[in-house]
Amino acid sequence: MEFVTLNNGVKMPAEGFGVFQVPDPGQCEQAVLDAIDEGYRLIDTAAAYMNETAVGNALIKAIAGGVAREELFITTKLWVQDASYKGAKTAIETSLANLQLEYLDLYLIHQPMGDYYGAYRAMEEAYKAGKIKAIGVCNFYPHVLADFCETVGIIPAVNQVELHPFFQQADAVALMKEYKIVPEAWAPFAEGKYEIFTRPELVSIGEKYGKTPAQVALRWNVQRGVVVIPKSVHKERMKQNMNIWDFALTQEDMEAIAKLDMGHSEIVDHSDPAFVKFLHGMKIHDE
Ligand code: NAP
Repeated sequence: MEFVTLNNGVKMPAEGFGVFQVPDPGQCEQAVLDAIDEGYRLIDTAAAYMNETAVGNALIKAIAGGVAREELFITTKLWVQDASYKGAKTAIETSLANLQLEYLDLYLIHQPMGDYYGAYRAMEEAYKAGKIKAIGVCNFYPHVLADFCETVGIIPAVNQVELHPFFQQADAVALMKEYKIVPEAWAPFAEGKYEIFTRPELVSIGEKYGKTPAQVALRWNVQRGVVVIPKSVHKERMKQNMNIWDFALTQEDMEAIAKLDMGHSEIVDHSDPAFVKFLHGMKIHDE
């Protein structure tokens, strides 16, 4: 496993395991245990995934089984409903309790919506108090990210955004690097769209190295300095997705993959008022 160093000196695994859309507690707990068994140490959840408790139960078992807490890198996220100073203060405590942890490795604002500046102040306080080792954001498009960085006291350590061969966001990645923010790819497989797992362009590159299109897609992102957090509930796929550290794509391969970029997302549209309204309407707890 390789690591990246965040802008505050904290080391973060360059590949992790995501648990979005694994709502069943038993399946989620088993998936996290399997992932840890396959060598993953970064686990990416969110309050809105409604599975922090299942992740926490897996972590307790893994730690009891001999994995050191310090080896693990646990990320969770603040939901829109809690995007305020007061809301974030409570949400951080709730996530810590659900995950049964004394500290979070990374805490992210899930969406640039609501009073996220107020929320960030609470996150900065929790960071200074040692409850969170690094703080960051998600889905901050370039103009939002620039405004944020020019305003806040602590530059976010990470910006987790949609990044895969079909939506590459080269300009957004460049801006993150300018601010010393680590880009982290959500949906590194485009959630299975575009026949990514059988896509001829990725198949032919993979054949040169004995690798699958999934492995090529992940390797492409890590080679451009992007942390990846693929999700799978299948242990064999977890193993496959982790097996990307023994080969390197050539410049020619990288350029061939660059041609797959569509320049827009077909998964979410944060500029659509209906989507923004939908996210605000998604409640994860009673008031
Ligand atoms: P993804 O990782 O791009 O794709 C997951 C899909 O790919 C699942 O259907 C999985 O199926 C399949 N898959 C995984 N490995 C495979 C392989 N080697 N061969 C064939 N199929 C494979 O999508 P994602 O879960 O949306 O994104 C990853 C993580 O990013 C999430 O879990 C979450 O932690 C995070 N995320 C964050 C945001 C945000 O707004 N911050 C948004 C979305 C996601 P099986 O599970 O059946 O194997």
